[in-house]
Amino acid sequence: MEEVSPPTVGVSARGEQRIRGGHPWIYRADVVDVRAEGGEVVRVLGPRNRVLGDALFSDRSQISIRMLTRGETSADLPLLRARLERAAAYRETLEIDATAYRLVHAEADLLPSLIVDRYGDYLVVQALSQGMDRLLPLITAMLVEIAAPAGILARNDPKVRALEGLDQTVEVLYGSVPELVVAREGPVDYAVDLRKGQKTGLFLDQRENREAAARYARGRLLDCFSYNGGFALRLARQCPEAEAIDISADAVARIRANAERNGIPHLEAREANVFDELRRLEKTGVRYDTIVLDPPAFAKNKASIPNALAGYKEINLRAMRLLNPGGYLVTCSCSYNVNEEMFGAVLHEASIDSHTPVTIVEKRMQGRDHPVLAGVPETYYLKCFILRRVE
Ligand code: SAH
Repeated sequence: MEEVSPPTVGVSARGEQRIRGGHPWIYRADVVDVRAEGGEVVRVLGPRNRVLGDALFSDRSQISIRMLTRGETSADLPLLRARLERAAAYRETLEIDATAYRLVHAEADLLPSLIVDRYGDYLVVQALSQGMDRLLPLITAMLVEIAAPAGILARNDPKVRALEGLDQTVEVLYGSVPELVVAREGPVDYAVDLRKGQKTGLFLDQRENREAAARYARGRLLDCFSYNGGFALRLARQCPEAEAIDISADAVARIRANAERNGIPHLEAREANVFDELRRLEKTGVRYDTIVLDPPAFAKNKASIPNALAGYKEINLRAMRLLNPGGYLVTCSCSYNVNEEMFGAVLHEASIDSHTPVTIVEKRMQGRDHPVLAGVPETYYLKCFILRRVE
């Protein structure tokens, strides 16, 4: 009987160069020949049919190919399972002081477009490409064996799935998942809505930055873009006065509920637009010793970079003016399109324009459970600078 040949996708010389350069993505423009269906695991061939490795293939996304292996190594089930096991074992070594953390961080765990977050006994998964979506039942079965969860929820509702031609769904894939799950992060307990919360429920990528901020926070605290109070709840214990601001009424309700749950009655949460509120506060003459700025991604794409930089400059400049001498500003950007250098330049300009000399005390990124894959700048998205106003 004739052997069934595997599906293949041919790439251009430029595509081959990118793969050899270590990047896992090949864009549509570098695909020259497709003998596969969207969502299949394919063998990638370079010019003159050199075998470059196995990959997930998408027939809708601009990112056509996400490499799984290099050379002749085939991306079979044992290989996927070993990668899941390795990802989980790595997190074990981190001695994370939390019950919620990222178990699998996609490309950085060599499992492109797969996210797995742990919230205590529950896992939340996201499959963000056609190929990973097809593999999800197998991955789910492997996760049951590796992590022994009580339930696995698919939060397959991020917008990027639409670019892949995939539907938006939230469904239980295994066991059962309650309406609210309690997760602990350091000394703070959260009631998390895994089905409706932003991302998979919490901003897990900021956990270590909250820990770092706790080394400096003191006096009067202002947490801007607070969501459900991540920074505020962590820092308020050491700050006798603490305020949290978010534009969403739901978020403010959650901050209040979390403050009560954790016995932090002095944390005051209010609904406001940070841009307006910083201006208003400046006029009232109030000053702070610790300010956190953790806005949503202002630059969702390249075209919005100039506006995003203006936005970052505005809030940082105002926050610097609101700081007492000796005070700390914990300032973040999660826009991949604004890299560390650009963000640093914005902070420098804000310091000059606000006549506020600041020192850079720490330069940080997303937590170690969300590692950056060397040579793949797309995986370095979260910047967190801790600044100190000198005088
Ligand atoms: N700091 C949080 C995560 C922040 S996510 C944590 O550590 O968990 C960004 C938050 O900013 C969202 O909750 C969103 O509602 C809020 N937001 C967006 N635009 C805003 C604005 N202009 N003013 C105030 N809050 C805003």
